[in-house]
Amino acid sequence: MNREQRHMDRIRKKRKRHIILFIIFIAVLIATVCIGLISYISTNVYQNEDEFREYADDELKKTSQFSVRGKTKIDYEYGRPISYVIDYGVCDNESIAVFRDQKIKEIKEKYQQDKNAEEESRAKRYEDQRNYRPLEHALILRSSVYESDKGVISLSIYESENSERKKDMEQDASMIYTYQFSAKTGKILIPQQIFSEKYKEICSEFFMKYFRKNYKKDELKDGWQDYVTAGENNFNKYALTDTGVTFFFDEGTVLDESRGVISAGIPEADMGTGLRNKILERYIDPTKPMVALTYDDGPGGGAETRILECLRKNGDVATFFYLGSRVAGNSANLKTAYDLGCQIGTHTWNHPVLTKLKPEQIQKQFDDTNAAIKAVTGEDPTAFRPSYGETNDTINKMSAMPVIMWTVDTLDWKSRDGKKIFEEVKKMKNLDGKIILMHSIYDSTADATELIVPWLKENGYQLVTVSEMIKYKTGEDPQKGQVYRTF
Ligand code: ZN
Repeated sequence: MNREQRHMDRIRKKRKRHIILFIIFIAVLIATVCIGLISYISTNVYQNEDEFREYADDELKKTSQFSVRGKTKIDYEYGRPISYVIDYGVCDNESIAVFRDQKIKEIKEKYQQDKNAEEESRAKRYEDQRNYRPLEHALILRSSVYESDKGVISLSIYESENSERKKDMEQDASMIYTYQFSAKTGKILIPQQIFSEKYKEICSEFFMKYFRKNYKKDELKDGWQDYVTAGENNFNKYALTDTGVTFFFDEGTVLDESRGVISAGIPEADMGTGLRNKILERYIDPTKPMVALTYDDGPGGGAETRILECLRKNGDVATFFYLGSRVAGNSANLKTAYDLGCQIGTHTWNHPVLTKLKPEQIQKQFDDTNAAIKAVTGEDPTAFRPSYGETNDTINKMSAMPVIMWTVDTLDWKSRDGKKIFEEVKKMKNLDGKIILMHSIYDSTADATELIVPWLKENGYQLVTVSEMIKYKTGEDPQKGQVYRTF
């Protein structure tokens, strides 16, 4: 081998080494890119809004059991780290739609707060903030509205909370919220207005059998029966459907937590007498305290309009004793009071001292006033309060209605001061069974009403009409000619 050949050989070996090194370099480069790419893909469960929508749609499909009506209106809100998908469902009733939107807003805000706090505390655990990456969170809400032929509009909102875990989205928790409304008034209904007293017993019997039949023994949670008894806290979440009633069972009650909220329907035939044929628009709990607010000397103008608006807003009623002579010109308020479910009574035609009148004059006071009221409402007045509270046996006997006096005189006609009137009411420590006297023609009485009504509700009182009070407190219907003062 000459020098030339040795030289060429060295160069070849050198090249070979370079090629090997280059191949190793390329291999390492490819591996790095691959690892990077894989880890980039796997750190995010969805990459963009389209992928989130795909995920959300799949999840929504799983929630069909929580919808009692098929029409949907879906709102996607993609963001990092929190995304939302909300199926509002279709709701034709405007006031219920407003109520639902408010509830959804509250749920969303609470979720946002919780998740932001969660991420904040996660971030704190990273010494080097560059290593911290928030997890994806997704809130899935499905609301549905259904109007049944019973006059009930059922609203349900199903909530599913999901977070990223091990490169996948998993459900953290699920919840259900249900509300029932009167289709006629839009007011919230409680179970007693929709169901008869025995409904929980009927449900309990049905669902004990239902769960045993439809689930394996090891699927049912220990103590599941506690959530299917006729107890106070059971069967309170439900929605009426076209075939019966769907009840919802909270996560971790009947089945394991991982199964989330579950729903199960009871056919109308099995519900039997548990479901009322017609809902009770007003429900009075006989075991709870009740007060009757009464207003004399109307129908009036602006002050009475305010009083009626206050009652309407609170879903309450009162009793109005009207003067026949004032009906013309104020019939709109009389009609409103009647439509609100208030009791309409007669207070004489023009406020005389009846005890000073002849029998035929007294009779005319009754007849003319009753006729004027009936011309507006289509019904005879159902109670009588003598003007000045002046009455006697003769007048009582002539009254075709029960004679209603009062327990608490607010002296509103004298003080003309809303706060003082309110104080007069509060003076009486226990107002259960009491009849409160006011006059619907003073602005100060409207001021007082706006204080008294919420205060009574806060203190556990039910506002009832005088007739309801008599019925619940005496156990019998009001008797004509009989004087009632307190209970
Ligand atoms: Zn009067």
